[in-house]
Amino acid sequence: MTTLRVILLLCLAMPLSAASWKAGTAKADITPKKPIWMAGYGGRTEPSDGVLHPLWAKALALQDETGKLGIIISTDTIGLSASIYNSLKLKLAKEYKLTADQVMFNASHTHTGPVMREGLYDIYPLTPERITRIEEYSNRFESEILKITGQAIKNLEPVTLKHGIGITRFGVNRRENKPYSDVPKLIAANALKGPVDHDVPVLAVYKGLSLKAVVFGYACHSTTLSFQKFSGDYAGFTQLALEKSHPGAMALFSPGCGADINPLPRREVHQAERYGNMLAAAVEEVLLQKMNTLKPKLATHIKTIDLEFGALPSDESLASSAKNQNSYRGRWAKRMIELKTAGNLPKTYPYPIQCWRVGDLLWLSMGGEVVVDYSLQFKKEFGSATWVTSYANDVMAYIPTFRVLLEGGYEGQSSMAVYGLPADRWKENVEELVNKGIKQLVSETK
Ligand SMILES: [Zn+2]
Repeated sequence: MTTLRVILLLCLAMPLSAASWKAGTAKADITPKKPIWMAGYGGRTEPSDGVLHPLWAKALALQDETGKLGIIISTDTIGLSASIYNSLKLKLAKEYKLTADQVMFNASHTHTGPVMREGLYDIYPLTPERITRIEEYSNRFESEILKITGQAIKNLEPVTLKHGIGITRFGVNRRENKPYSDVPKLIAANALKGPVDHDVPVLAVYKGLSLKAVVFGYACHSTTLSFQKFSGDYAGFTQLALEKSHPGAMALFSPGCGADINPLPRREVHQAERYGNMLAAAVEEVLLQKMNTLKPKLATHIKTIDLEFGALPSDESLASSAKNQNSYRGRWAKRMIELKTAGNLPKTYPYPIQCWRVGDLLWLSMGGEVVVDYSLQFKKEFGSATWVTSYANDVMAYIPTFRVLLEGGYEGQSSMAVYGLPADRWKENVEELVNKGIKQLVSETK
């Protein structure tokens, strides 16, 4: 064999033997098959009645050059309750030996999806029959997650990973632009107020030149729609548009810190579709740019920090609220009195924060509904390319900054009772604890 032929053969063999990422995908239609109570709004008086488009659970398995696995699971749901998150962690560990740090659950926070087991039960008029249906659905949800995780791992194949950031502007700070009826006027006058995060982070997974999967983010509540039909809201439309435009590819949504951001104006299907298409167009633009190719190296870490509950309202105030058992606050107050009498009031909540390094991409995933201040802050601190996901893993509460906590309102205070938590609000050190926890987590993720 001539030297030239040996060199040629070596060159041909190199791409196959060179270390690379591997990725596998799988998805399942998780649309409820029977009418079920719908999540997110306490004011509904009827269960679901039809489907605008199916709800999906999607799994993307990533494996680095050393064989280390990370699984991104995106679902068109309001968010995983602690009950479902903890159950899935155990099942994934048993079935696939995956540890909690290796799995990143994303929930689109759609308000046109089903109620999940033990998620915000106080705010819905739930009968035993309705709860049974929710529990049956949640069991099916968990088995679908197990199934797609296994399939995604089985489907691993060599890929390239790329990261980029685009922009779209439909998210409006919902605390600073009230009443919402004024928003069209404010948009026309370019006079919207309050912090927002218009970044559209994109993780593209390529098999050769064709797009295999794309993960995209945006910091905005999935609350365009509030009717009785299932839908993934704007993020559902984005997934549909991207999967139509890239046949064979899977699109996954990873929501940002949009706890205080709404898609406004809203409530019409054409608006959800418009916002969905705007986000899809932003993703497409990123795919056309020169993106940052990520080295096949994955580091994953997760920890919980004990966030401290503030005080409850006074005994008199709880007793007075508890008189009205037709309101969620009344049902919550009654439970709080019982907990207090039994001496069972927890003082802290184990709040999950997760950090991944995907090549040189720093990806933070935070539980709960996180206000936009945090993502803006973390991008300043850790670099503008930092990806900050919210509604990740356990969605147990709003996570305000000190500013929002002091201002009060829904995100700073009253949502605590909506979530059934034993406090009127978090303690004033909530932001300090979160920042300290994230800083430590980032330094430990190597
Ligand atoms: Zn919300």
